[in-house]
Parts: sequence; C-alpha cells; structure tokens
Amino acid sequence: MVMTQKPSTSRPVALITGASRGIGAACARLLAVQGYAVVVNYAERADAAQALVDELTRAGHTAWAVQANVADESQVLAMFAAIDTRMGRLDALVNNAGVVGATARVDECSAERFKRILDINVLGSLLCAREAVRRMSTRHGRRGGGIVNMGSAASRLGSPGQYVDYAAAKGAIDSFTIGLSREVAGEGIRVNAVRPGIIDTDIHASGGWATRVADVQATLPMKRAGTADEVAQCVAWLLSDAASYTTGALIDVSGAR
Ligand code: NAP
Repeated sequence: MVMTQKPSTSRPVALITGASRGIGAACARLLAVQGYAVVVNYAERADAAQALVDELTRAGHTAWAVQANVADESQVLAMFAAIDTRMGRLDALVNNAGVVGATARVDECSAERFKRILDINVLGSLLCAREAVRRMSTRHGRRGGGIVNMGSAASRLGSPGQYVDYAAAKGAIDSFTIGLSREVAGEGIRVNAVRPGIIDTDIHASGGWATRVADVQATLPMKRAGTADEVAQCVAWLLSDAASYTTGALIDVSGAR
C-alpha cells in the first residue's frame, strides 16, 4: 500500500497509542517539544486526551486526539486513514497502549480476561506496527521511520501471583520487536522496545492495586518507582537520529529491578 497524499505538515508526525494518560502522555509531551506533530490516541478518556491536546496547542505545538481501540482492526484502520488525510505522513509510532488485569493466579483467570490482555497488549501493537510499516518503509516508497514498542520488565520477571498473562503478552512484545526490527532493518525503519519497571501511573489502580507504588517502593533497588517522563526520555532518544544504529534493542528503564 503506497499513500499518495502530499504532506500536509512539514513537521515529522508521531502517533502515540494510549497517550491520554501516563507514559503515553509523557511521550507525547516530550516528542511535541522536540518538534513532532503528535497524534494522541486514546480508548475512552476523551477528556484527558483533549486536555493534553489543549495544553500542547496552547504551548505552540501541533497535537490532535484520535479515539481508537487498538485491539479492533477496523478502528485501527480508521485511525491510520484519518492520519493519512489530516497529516499526510507518519514518521514515528510509539506502541504504548496497554492494560493489566487484576491481581490473580493463572488458575483463577477467565478466557475472556486472557483474550483482553493479549488483544490490547499484543494484537494492538501488531496491527499498529503493520499500518506504520506500510506508511514508513522504503519498500512502499516511503521515507523510513521509527517504532518503539512499550514492553515491560514483567517479560523477564514473569509476574507470578499477579498477572502472568500480562507478562506473557510483554514477552511477545520482546520477540515481536526483535523480529520486526530484522524484517525492516534494510527499509529505513528502526524498531526498539523500552521495558519499564514500576512507574507511577494510573495503571496500578486500573489493576485494582491503587497503592502499589507506595506499597513496594521501599523494596525497589532505587527505593522509588520511576516516572513517566523517565520512560519518555528513552523513547524519544530511540526515535532520534542519535540512536541511528540502535535497532532490535530491548532497553530496561527499570531502576535495576
Ligand atoms: P495508564 O496510565 O493506565 O494509561 C493507559 C493508556 O492506554 C491510556 O491512555 C488508555 O486510554 C490507553 N488504552 C488502554 N486500552 C486501550 C486500547 N484498547 N486502545 C487504545 N488505548 C488504550 O498506563 P501506563 O502505566 O502509562 O502504561 C503505558 C504502557 O507502559 C503500557 O503498555 C504498560 O503495559 C507499560 N508499562 C507500564 C508500567 C508501569 O508501571 N506503569 C510498567 C511497565 C510497562 P484511556 O485514557 O482512554 O483509557
């Protein structure tokens, strides 16, 4: 698939999935400051996404909110078609949207839960990466680009007794990053993953453990959780020319956890 639209913005364009809150919002802020026009994807929290877009626009940046459930192929296709129409180019994808389930053992989980965890964390990343490669690859007549997948330290820790399904999904993100990076290395696209440790965001409350950061920080090697901005700094570096020979890397931003 080769897009034929003339670029409607001279700025590079970055799509950040799950950018209404947490790590994704921090990535959108930092990439906007670095000169990207940012597409702020969200699932349900239109209020949070619009507040971020308003904040960035007031600061003189270019930002736009787009609703799409990344686990739904038709919604992903509609989001990328809207980017084609409105932005006319795509230079960077941050595959950040992700969810955890409530703390549970594997023998307590339903098939519906497993499916949701795998669909959003894995299928969503695969679908968005596929659409991004179609718009970035020199094989498709495009100018190249960068993809950063949001993995997790859970892929090597396994999260026993908490959410092994999520850890397995993030293990798939590691393998996907290695494979896709090799597949498109000669096509102008670098693909890397960032694997955060415990980061202070809403995700812990959504998994039913709102006090997780406060509860565990004394046990962490650095005696504190990380911040969303500390993860965003690594994402922005990976997308920058400073990382021009870095692809297929899985970078831990986990404070030695
Ligand atoms: P968060 O604060 O809970 O934010 C999640 C974001 O993902 C929100 O913007 C949410 O949109 C969006 N989202 C959820 N389901 C979606 C879907 N189906 N389609 C599109 N967007 C969806 O999470 P976070 O802590 O920033 O986590 C971001 C990423 O980092 C995830 O991949 C997570 O697994 C990973 N990570 C986080 C930590 C941590 O400790 N925080 C550690 C390791 C890895 P709405 O606002 O519309 O709901």
